[in-house]
This record gives sequence, C-alpha cells and structure tokens, in this order.
Amino acid sequence: MRYSEMHLPTLREIPSDAEVISHKLMIRAGMIRKLTSGIYSYLPLGYRVIRKVEQIVREEMNKAGAQEVFMPMVQPAELWEESGRWVHYGKELLRFRDRHERPYCLGPTHEEVITDLVRNDVKTYRQLPLNLYQIQTKFRDEVRPRFGVMRCREFGMKDAYSFDADEEGAQNSYEKMFKAYNNIFRRCGLRFRPVEADSGSIGGKYSHEFMVMADSGEDAIVFCEKCSYAANLEKAEIAQPAKKNIPEKDMLPLESVHTPNARTIEEVSAFLKVKPENIIKTLIFNADGHPCAVLIRGDQEVNEIKVKNYLGAGELELADDEIINKATGAPRGFAGAVNIKTRVIADYSIMNMINFVTGANKQDYHLKNVNVGRDFQVEAYADLRVVEENDSCPRCAGKVKFARGIEVGHVFKLGTKYSKAMKAVYLDKDGQEKTMIMGCYGIGISRTVAACIEQNHDDQGIVWPVPLAPYHVIITPVNVNDKSISDVAENLYNKMQDEKIEAILDDRDERAGVKFNDADLIGIPLRVVIGQKNLALNKVELKIRQTGENKLIAVDEIVNEVKEYVNKVFSSAE
Ligand code: ATP
Ligand code: MG
Repeated sequence: MRYSEMHLPTLREIPSDAEVISHKLMIRAGMIRKLTSGIYSYLPLGYRVIRKVEQIVREEMNKAGAQEVFMPMVQPAELWEESGRWVHYGKELLRFRDRHERPYCLGPTHEEVITDLVRNDVKTYRQLPLNLYQIQTKFRDEVRPRFGVMRCREFGMKDAYSFDADEEGAQNSYEKMFKAYNNIFRRCGLRFRPVEADSGSIGGKYSHEFMVMADSGEDAIVFCEKCSYAANLEKAEIAQPAKKNIPEKDMLPLESVHTPNARTIEEVSAFLKVKPENIIKTLIFNADGHPCAVLIRGDQEVNEIKVKNYLGAGELELADDEIINKATGAPRGFAGAVNIKTRVIADYSIMNMINFVTGANKQDYHLKNVNVGRDFQVEAYADLRVVEENDSCPRCAGKVKFARGIEVGHVFKLGTKYSKAMKAVYLDKDGQEKTMIMGCYGIGISRTVAACIEQNHDDQGIVWPVPLAPYHVIITPVNVNDKSISDVAENLYNKMQDEKIEAILDDRDERAGVKFNDADLIGIPLRVVIGQKNLALNKVELKIRQTGENKLIAVDEIVNEVKEYVNKVFSSAE
C-alpha cells in the first residue's frame, strides 16, 4: 500500500483518557478511534491486525477439528430464562425490547444459543463429539470499561463450544483446545503462559487461562521457577506441610490477658509485643447461612475462593456482627477457636504452631499460649490461604514467583450446566437418553491485539512481532523529489508486491525524520531506507525495528533479504 493513499491518521500527542500504553499507542498509531465509552471503530491498520489474529485462530481451530458457525448477536430472553441467567447475569447483560415489547439481550457469550442449536439437531451419540466456534462481536456492559479495547463493551471474541457423550470425550475435547490455544498464541509471536484458574462451582477442578506476560497486566500469576506449574493468584495451591509432633511438655499454661481495644492483628501484636506470625486470626464466615470459623496465621491472608470451594458453599461472605456475637459471645475483633460455637477449619499455616495468641471470645481479652489439641479441636487442616512469593511449589521442590499477565483466552469445562438446564440430550448406543457434556473456549481477539502491544513496544511506539504486524516492511525513500531515489523505491515496492511481501511504500513528501517516526510508531518490523549516499554504492539500509540493528544491503538483494527474514519467523513459529 502507498502511504499517501492510506487512511493512517497518526497522532503525536497522547490521548488524555488513555491510561495504558497499548491504548495510547493504538490511538496514536491510527489503529482505533473511540465512538463512545467502551466502543471503538477499527481503522484500516488496526483492522488488519485483528484479521491476522483471527486468521491464526481460524486455522488452528479448524486444525483441531472445530467447525466455524456464525450466530446472532441479538438473543431472545426466553433462552436466557431457560438457563437461569436472565436473572443471574446481572448488569453486564444489555437488555432491550423490540417493537412488540418482546425482551432481548445483546450476546455477551453464546452458551444459550449454541445449546439451543445443538439440542435441536443432535439426537444420537453418532453425531458426537461436536465442536462449533465463531468469531463474532460480543457486548458486555462492563462496569468500568477501560484500557481501550482491552476491557471494552463491544469486542471481538472467538468462542467455541464442545459437546461430548461422556466425561472422557469431554476431557479429550478440552485437551484439544488446550493444545490449539498453545499453538495460537505461539504463532502470534507472544510470550504467554497457560495458568490454572478456578472453575467455580461447575465443570471440574480447574480451567486454564492463557496469559500474555506483561508487567502492566491486571492479573497476578504465580509460577514455579523450576517446573511448569503456573496458576492465577486465586487458584495457586500451597503444598501441605509435614505435621510435626508437638510434645505436651512444650505447651505453656493457657493465659487470659486484658487487651483493651486491641482488635486487629497489628493492634494485638503491638499491645502484647508478639509477632503477627505467633497470633492466629479467626475469621467467621457465613457459608450458605451456616457460620464457620477459619483460622489462619496472623501475617497471612485467607483466600475466600479456597474456603468457598472447601466448604462446597454456593454463597460465602464474612459473617455480620449478629452471627459473630452468637458464635463468640463477644463483639467483632475478639474471636478465637477456644469454646467457639461453630465449625472450625484451619489453614495449613497453623498446623505446627505452638503457644500462640488468639481472641478469647470475650470483649477486650485475648488468650496466650493456646495450643491445638489441648485447648480446642480443628475439624480439618486445608489449603485456605493466599499464596505468597517464595512459597514452596505444590508440584516440585521449587519456589513460586509472581509475575503479571493479561488474560487473552480461557478454556473451561462446563459439564452439564447448560445441557441439563436446557435439555440438550442424545440417545446412547443402548437407546438411553443422556445429557451432553459441554466445554467452552474463548479468545478475546481485540484484547490479544492490545496485550501484544503491552508486551511489545518501546519509547518510539509499537514493535510488532512479525505474525501480527499489519505490514512486514516499510520502504522509506528519504526524498521523493529525488528521481533516482524514488525510482529505486518504486521498483523495490513493485518487486515486493510481485513477491507477495506485505509492504508499505512511504511515498509522502515529508521529511525523513517524520517518516522514521511514523514507521517506528506503527511498529513495522522492517524498514528499508533509500538515501543518496548509500545508493551511490548501490545499497539500501535495512533497519530491524525489534533490535534496532542496521545493515547495508545491495539493492539487488534487499527483496530476498526481507523475504527470508519474514519466512524465518513464520517457519520457526510453526
Ligand atoms: P475478565 O475476567 O477479564 O472480565 P472474563 O472471565 O469475563 O474476563 P471470558 O468470559 O472467559 O472472560 O471471555 C473470554 C475472553 O474474552 C477473555 O479471555 C478475554 O480475552 C476476552 N474478554 C472478556 N471480556 C472482555 C472485555 N470487556 N473486553 C475485551 N475482551 C474481553
Ligand atoms: Mg468479565
């Protein structure tokens, strides 16, 4: 494409509402423009990158045996009522009525529509397994749309849904998608990690989120420095420590101490001059209406998702004052496990603690020299806390570290959540009616583009990895009014067109500095600079955006050189 004919409005100034670098650069590089909050148009350069991601996604999905469909964005309320989500989905679901006053929503996801499609046409085990996907616009009325197309309201997603006859089949479908996602993000040229994530109350023990590694990412990732273990912060497991035998004789006599107004760990620690790691925090939760005390070391944090999963609770929240009062006989801030009137579960962190401090279940009092076994019983020890950096890896002898990432994809086992509610059934070999087992698999297309920029940029602009670059090379004649220069530029451009190299010819009558700045801003991987001095030696300059490396190449060889550079990247990603 000739730059002079492109709609490529680059900006020098930084847009005032842009907080993150990808948002700033996508606006400045003329990729996107905001229409209204969380809703963007893609300009030609931006849309080319979107299409590149889509193409890789399509190829890998097809290779994994999934088939492409295209479902409507407008969905009738009845379907959502069948699944129960018309009530539960909340305000992210944009609802509206047509002229007949019938209720509809804009699809934030397509489980309902796909389950309806499949239940109507799939009748026997012979039609299974089935994996259908689409690349389509989603609408989610996010509370706080931000970061440009990274968290917007209208965005492109690839969503796939698998239907299987049994658990084994469903696991197989999941693994195929897991593999396809690895291929997709590798082929995009991104540094990423699949991490274990919580799967809530449905669909098995885990799901996986695919994270693009970037310091600016919203998500905390926990990974092992030795093995391949990685999980998001809420899911990351902590290994069970070995239980040490604590001899009775080491247990000091229990002592009640007056601690006026000392409620928090910090206050108690300061008042009694005891380190937080020698205090036990007693948190009382309300799990589906039943109180439960959770014990944890004073310097650590409870992971509520782990507690919820451990208790198998639908709803979990910290108990209110009334429940606390009933369970402990004291106001908030003085709870302890000794004589408490609730179940008591404890995090592994307290398994080997001795002579610790805890609340006395009495206003303004704490207990010293408390010991499990002698003073109270624990129903069970479990992994209930938030992981910390340098905790032991749950899989090997290594230590875990923290990093940040951006979730670009998610593979999830749905089990029978939708197929049961919406009666997606089939007849098995014996003519028995069975419920299909589902999985769902999403990739945020627009978020992948933004995440790529978060990971690949410098002070000058975007640094596209070749597979997602809108163009691979930009030819920059330093002065278009010099015929010897522009002739060579035109000639090289034509040759590259013939060779199907994706090239821009910067044929604008602009100063070289302006052209270089734009080329760096829009992040084209290779720049071929044609100037008088080198041309006298029959050479042009090749600049590699990523490394900043400069090479002088003979005019006759430059087309081949560019081709080889690009091909090498593609073949190494295969
Ligand atoms: P998040 O926790 O970031 O809100 P999610 O769990 O709601 O994500 P999914 O429902 O799993 O996301 O959607 C699949 C993919 O769609 C996500 O992995 C992400 O890449 C993308 N996505 C989700 N919400 C948005 C959004 N508001 N803007 C852009 N992409 C999004
Ligand atoms: Mg969300």
